[in-house]
Amino acid sequence: MNSPELALTGGPKTITRPFARFNRIGNEEAAAAEAVIHSGRLSQFLGRWSPDFYGGPKVREFEADWAKAFGVKHAVSVNSATSALIAALGAIGIEPGDEVIVPPWTMCASATAILHWNALPVFADIERETFCIDPRSIEANITPYTRAIVAVDIMGHPADMDAISAIARRHGLKVVSDSAQAPSAIYKGRHAGTLADVGVFSLNYHKHIHTGEGGVAVTDSDEIAERMRLIRNHAEAVVGDMETLRLDNMLGHNFRLGEIEAAIGVEQLKKLPAIAESRQRAARQMSEGLRDLPGLRTPVVKAGCTHVYYMYPLIVDTHLLDIDRQTLFSALVAEGIEGLGVNFANIHLLPIYQRKIAYGSSGFPWNSSLCRRPIDYGKGICPVAEELQDASYLGLHWCAHELDRDEVDLLIAAFRKVWSRLHTLRKLPR
Ligand SMILES: *Cc1c(COP(=O)(O)O)cnc(C)c1O
Repeated sequence: MNSPELALTGGPKTITRPFARFNRIGNEEAAAAEAVIHSGRLSQFLGRWSPDFYGGPKVREFEADWAKAFGVKHAVSVNSATSALIAALGAIGIEPGDEVIVPPWTMCASATAILHWNALPVFADIERETFCIDPRSIEANITPYTRAIVAVDIMGHPADMDAISAIARRHGLKVVSDSAQAPSAIYKGRHAGTLADVGVFSLNYHKHIHTGEGGVAVTDSDEIAERMRLIRNHAEAVVGDMETLRLDNMLGHNFRLGEIEAAIGVEQLKKLPAIAESRQRAARQMSEGLRDLPGLRTPVVKAGCTHVYYMYPLIVDTHLLDIDRQTLFSALVAEGIEGLGVNFANIHLLPIYQRKIAYGSSGFPWNSSLCRRPIDYGKGICPVAEELQDASYLGLHWCAHELDRDEVDLLIAAFRKVWSRLHTLRKLPR
């Protein structure tokens, strides 16, 4: 059967209707929020030593539910995953000038949280299979100044935590897991985010579940949990009253989550397993439908892991296909595919690192005595991440929709149509 001409060259589009944006918020969240509003108590945090130092009833209920759902001792809610990362790095005792290893494929806050403690991000490359930090590159970037690793479960696939934990043990490093994109993903029987000293989740509106804005940090350590609760709520104002006085990194913040958000979070958390399953079902169907297309690599799920598909990541073999990525991308978008992107991240190339300007205007902390060796952020330090970004990565923002079978079939049809007309694309002027 001859497929019709590509939409890019004037043929009919495969997908002619927009897919419904997924709305995770329903009557349950509305009722929970309304109950808090009628209580008149929209927050119950007090920034001084009292039972209310730990927040109101909904905050505590949400934290207890989260800890139970993820199988951890402590869940500390905060107002964003960015705040959770800052609290986590402070709580594990990062010192000014410490080096912290982080991958370049992540959201910018995984690295800026390090700078917030006047510590120095060092970028390690990623694995082509999962796009997560490559343990071999971590090893290669360890110096006498390295203190911690921020591993990121990017796109919904867990990082290689066995290897990362082994490196951390060998070198005496702490590990923070940024699992903002992977809530309920499994690594060898345990929840992603629970295999590090601290794991961090986001409740921002474009993540799997959300409260508008919000975040959660989890840990099995009583001390780290308490230090995160202190950093959340103006620690410096209350630590004087504490029996065990440990003042490092106890500068005040307000990272508190409100009662309305916490009440919504209680309801959202109940929906997380079903949301993750629906993403997985759609991804399985998609990968099955694309499997035999040459030069297209569908997402890899490593043994012992599950993937929760914040993104649905693809790699195109542009050499094999003899077509550049931009042309393929344009042809796919012309067929009506929404949410497709050729860029993910390479945060080491952001101006803040290229120009090495964070605090003030004179290059602090890099130009200060805190920085004990020159740190290289030049293009070339993360060759795998850079090649993917520059030439071969193609990703669908999978989390924005709840795709049904027919919609996934349409996506598959669009890819298959483009792949059946590769000869046309090869002839286009480049
Ligand atoms: C979204 C995200 C964050 C930040 O989450 P916020 O709640 O918006 O602060 C951090 N890390 C990763 C990997 C993310 O995807």
